[in-house]
Amino acid sequence: MTSQSKCTCILASILAFLFLFGAKSVIAKEVEDYREFDYIKGSPKGPEKWGELKTEWAACKNGTMQSPIDLSNARVKFISQPVIRNYKPSNATLKNSGHDIWVGWNGDAGSIFINGTEYRLQGVHWHTPSEHTINGTRFDMELHMVHESPDPNVQNRTAVIGVLYKIGRPDEFLSKLNQSISSLIDKKGEERELGIIDPNDIQAESQSYYRYMGSLTTPPCTEGVIWTVNTKVKSVSRDQIKLLKEAVLYYAEENARPLQPRNNRDISLYFTRYPTSN
Ligand SMILES: [Zn+2]
Repeated sequence: MTSQSKCTCILASILAFLFLFGAKSVIAKEVEDYREFDYIKGSPKGPEKWGELKTEWAACKNGTMQSPIDLSNARVKFISQPVIRNYKPSNATLKNSGHDIWVGWNGDAGSIFINGTEYRLQGVHWHTPSEHTINGTRFDMELHMVHESPDPNVQNRTAVIGVLYKIGRPDEFLSKLNQSISSLIDKKGEERELGIIDPNDIQAESQSYYRYMGSLTTPPCTEGVIWTVNTKVKSVSRDQIKLLKEAVLYYAEENARPLQPRNNRDISLYFTRYPTSN
């Protein structure tokens, strides 16, 4: 090999290295940036476009019972007991989906009963700010507890409980997950084993709640979801909200779907009437 060809060879190697390295970082960026949908207004994958992105997501655009909605002008009803809950501690996993942070129970985390039908708890996730509003008021955060009926013959198989939060004292449940959430910042698709998590620690009980029929608030926006939104507003610290926003990717820092048309749907506001001695 002449000294000239040796020199050319080294130069070629350096160029090849730079090219591959450059290509690799472009690929890494695209993987990181890839998302099926986002929350950026006016973006090609933003909430106004969800229904056009996939045929299976058409309900996001054509549905007539979509969520979230503003909860107002509800019919007031009285019942003898709040939603029956029978949650159990079980093994859970924390996941960063890129658009939200999820706690999913792997085993039996218990269930709720609505009109005698059992709905088993699958997982919880957070939206900042809240998705539902009450008489036009938006809150700082909303937790969704997602339940599914194990019975394939049940007409409406999904029931979600929404819990609203405003900034104040830290939320105890999120405090327990602080370290695990911190370890998932910007790590879309990654998971952490949490060990045993007790859903009762969410303390989602409320003596009154709104109930209406709606949809999932993310694609595919499936309808037939029984919504229960508690009127009791809990508190969460500014730092906890900051952490949740940091953990998801930039396109979901504000991961609340815009309000959807109510379309004459009934909203009930249930109050628990305590039995009296006389
Ligand atoms: Zn949700």
